[in-house]
Amino acid sequence: MKHFHEFQQAVNDPLDYARNLKNDSGKEIVGYVCSYVPEEIILAAGAHPVRLFDTRSQIGLADLHLQSYCCSLVRGILEEGLSGRADGLDGMIFPHTCDSIQRLSDIWRMNIPAGFHLDVILPVKLDTDSARDYLTDVLRKFREDLSGSLEREITDAALEKAIATMNVIRQSIRSIYEMRSQNPRLMPGQDLYTLVRASMIMDRDRMAELLLETLAELQTKSDQAPSGKPPKRLVLAGGICNQPDIYPMIEESGGAIVWDDFCTGARYFSQMIPEGADPLSRITGRFLNRIVCPAKHMDLDSRASHLIGLVKEQNAQGVIFLLLKFCDPHAFDYPYIRQSLDKAGIPVMLMEINDPASAGGQMKTRVEAFLEML
Ligand code: SF4
Ligand code: SF4
Repeated sequence: MKHFHEFQQAVNDPLDYARNLKNDSGKEIVGYVCSYVPEEIILAAGAHPVRLFDTRSQIGLADLHLQSYCCSLVRGILEEGLSGRADGLDGMIFPHTCDSIQRLSDIWRMNIPAGFHLDVILPVKLDTDSARDYLTDVLRKFREDLSGSLEREITDAALEKAIATMNVIRQSIRSIYEMRSQNPRLMPGQDLYTLVRASMIMDRDRMAELLLETLAELQTKSDQAPSGKPPKRLVLAGGICNQPDIYPMIEESGGAIVWDDFCTGARYFSQMIPEGADPLSRITGRFLNRIVCPAKHMDLDSRASHLIGLVKEQNAQGVIFLLLKFCDPHAFDYPYIRQSLDKAGIPVMLMEINDPASAGGQMKTRVEAFLEML
């Protein structure tokens, strides 16, 4: 991939990337922590949204505020804030999703003075008419609050441009996923992981441009017949994927991840925003139509039936469920998903991970045994 180095650099140090972008472009940098934040509105405000994931440093300061049984994602983000590494941010946005993110918002507000602080109080239940009206109102309020914080008007024209940019990004990643599902050896899974993550960090106009070029580059390669024994096809599911090492581990063991169900993966690019009238209602529509995360409620079947549908559509042979340790929403979701997958005859393996460094030899042995059984 011609642009891989640029993607990798942004992923290696998102806050450093954002600092450089701010110096070069003058854009305000707005941090966010979850895919339920409307990036389109931040972009339309002329600011740059950057998603924070974990920390690469040892967690110490965050332990003064959070119990060790909070997930490493939330503890890591807090560590970045408390250590001053996130000082370049002009503001932080916290959506009302899982309990840990809600508490992170409170702790951040009371302990990290840098920039403005906005909460987006989304509805919990997403499958009612009143949820639609309420969510549109929440987004309207967020637009006003952000506009006030940045002292800049957010126009409908700017929102339309941001929606168009995000649609190019989402559609391009979807097309790359589809090509790779046809031919899993087109690119290593870890490179695709890097590319998706870079989309949540890099300047979105630049990202849209690079993704279109990457798509064209991969299209020229996609016709080449895959060589060697076909890998076992897997879907990776869970909350977030913070575990790049899992891709080579699975590939070396004879498998390939042909799709995923992560908010740092397919849930990030699922659902385009259609053309139409009021941009805020259309952004609301995307949040409501997109496959739900267990920190929100849709109906009892939607997550399991989505996963079963994915396995069939992608012709996958099994599912690996990646559970970040202490992630309650996904831990509560898993037994019911497992039951549905068992009923549908789909083999599933649970892998509990603690942080990006926790992939190891034991895990590889389990993956090999699972693949052998498929
Ligand atoms: S899993 Fe859900 S709550 Fe957690 S970061 Fe992703 S979208 Fe947000
Ligand atoms: S959904 Fe899970 S992984 Fe994501 S922030 Fe909440 S507890 Fe952590």
